[in-house]
Amino acid sequence: MLQVFKESPHRRWNPLRREWVVVSPHRTQRPWQGQTEEVPAPATKQYDPECYLCPGNMRAGGHQTPVYTETYVFENDFAALKSDVPPAEFDLDSAGLLRATTERGICRVLCFDPRHDLTLATMDVEAIRRVVDVWAEQELDLSARDDIRYVQIFENRGAMMGASNPHPHGQIWATEHIPNEPAAELSSQSDYHAKNGRPLLIDYLELELQQRERVVAENDAWVALVPFWAVWPFETLILPRTHVRTIHELDAKGREGLAAILKTVTAGYNRVFNAPFPYSMGFHSAPCDGAEHKEWQLHAHFYPPLLRSATVRKFMVGFELLGSPQRDITPESAAETLRRVMS
Ligand SMILES: [Zn+2]
Ligand SMILES: [Zn+2]
Repeated sequence: MLQVFKESPHRRWNPLRREWVVVSPHRTQRPWQGQTEEVPAPATKQYDPECYLCPGNMRAGGHQTPVYTETYVFENDFAALKSDVPPAEFDLDSAGLLRATTERGICRVLCFDPRHDLTLATMDVEAIRRVVDVWAEQELDLSARDDIRYVQIFENRGAMMGASNPHPHGQIWATEHIPNEPAAELSSQSDYHAKNGRPLLIDYLELELQQRERVVAENDAWVALVPFWAVWPFETLILPRTHVRTIHELDAKGREGLAAILKTVTAGYNRVFNAPFPYSMGFHSAPCDGAEHKEWQLHAHFYPPLLRSATVRKFMVGFELLGSPQRDITPESAAETLRRVMS
């Protein structure tokens, strides 16, 4: 890259969301007088009698979590979406200004492990591989329903990201309509495929593997990199090496590689500031709306909020809410830090 992009303010194009991000590399030395966060103590007990996700404990609403030994899936006791909503649409005077549609959906919780004190970073790869298999099963099961067009699998890790419970778990939300983020990615990937005859993210990965400036970890099936257009300081994008549209389409090698790279990335994150690294992560599989989706490439996003220490986080406020997202350290220098802790 030209030197000017390493030193001077510039914009970078995100071809997946089709928007610009402002990069301000000269600002990394600015003094910090803003908010600092508490570093929550990591869970130390293997079993917590107060935790509703620990085996055998009672949950709100009178449900009991069974004594599970590997993974456990249940319908969220306080689900944001329900599957039995009678369909209705509203558009006042067909003006498109006051518009609503009902949304049917299913929200499930997946406990990754019975042990309260583990995380993806500290579970072994075989245990993460079992989680990958459950993600695949759940995705296949939910995507077969004709009232579901998208299955969003995600994990919020750490109190800073609003995770109410340290027990290792993630969520699976299946919705009648394709949500905003995958919808934006569907339209960009479709247009790119129509023009070039190849999936956008396959071509993108090829360029990143030539340049290697932003690649942070890899194995024979997957690559982790800081995307060229990353907004969050230590954001990463996890991409398979071959064309695959969904988690349930991954073969054994793809699933093993995914488990391994998730371990590498999450354990590496914890070494950046030698503290538990909070994040939101999730997969973008192809929609299950009946179309073939040759344009779609499966991938995972990690969005960690930490900026310069375990107690200083990035906020998306001001110009970022009202103008464009902005970052200080360049994606290349974040990648350098992450490469050190992930390889
Ligand atoms: Zn627990
Ligand atoms: Zn995505």
